[in-house]
Amino acid sequence: MGGAADDGLPGGVSLLRAPNPGPMTLDGTNTWLLRTPRGGAVVIDPGPQDDEHLAAIAERAPIAAILITHGHFDHVEGAGKLSRLVGGAPVRAVDPQHCVNSAPLTPGVVEEGGLSIEVLATPGHTHDSVCFVIPEAVFTGDTILGRGTTVVTHPDGDLGAYLASLEVLSAYPRMLLPGHGPVGHDCAAVARTYLVHRRERLDQVRAAVASGADSPEAVVDAVYFDIDPRVRFAAEQSVRAQLDYLRRESQPGPQQLDSL
Ligand SMILES: [Zn+2]
Repeated sequence: MGGAADDGLPGGVSLLRAPNPGPMTLDGTNTWLLRTPRGGAVVIDPGPQDDEHLAAIAERAPIAAILITHGHFDHVEGAGKLSRLVGGAPVRAVDPQHCVNSAPLTPGVVEEGGLSIEVLATPGHTHDSVCFVIPEAVFTGDTILGRGTTVVTHPDGDLGAYLASLEVLSAYPRMLLPGHGPVGHDCAAVARTYLVHRRERLDQVRAAVASGADSPEAVVDAVYFDIDPRVRFAAEQSVRAQLDYLRRESQPGPQQLDSL
């Protein structure tokens, strides 16, 4: 790889967008393909089980590996079928239940099809979220999106872990290739913007609780008053994650026990 292609992507990187647009998936899931020195591809997030989409990915065979940023179905659902379509290519994820013909991913560098790809643990959106790093770019899955902010799921995600992951990503000033939405030019800058946003939201949630909001629903009404009804459930999850975080912050004893 090296150098930017005509479409603005790093050389050897291309995008196939799945036909699953929606309030949580923006324009659809981004399936990323990295051309390997041997003429095939490494796939990041095959996306939903959509026959046409999976067939389009399979045209890039031989597929050296299918890497998964996290276990949400809009990223991983089509992985097993894609693997079968391309002769049993390994599917690699943090969560063993999503792996095919492979051991689970762990942080560090993996070699796939002659490419070195760094696996960065970035839990928070989900417990099993990772980002994939190449010299020119970071593939962020749902940890950072191309537009708007992401949800910290509850109880699978964790806000404290998510803030720490954003701190990690703020040290990667390279192209942002997200799981949904358009590419960004600076992953580090977006990570810092997300951190500011999260801290503002936490202040708003603290203020809502202080002024009497006594349930996650009441906090959503106070803080996310202009929320699109189609994504209200996601706001409720984020609020539950934030209330958990604030509860632990205000109870240093149990937090210390948790971290033992
Ligand atoms: Zn997700």
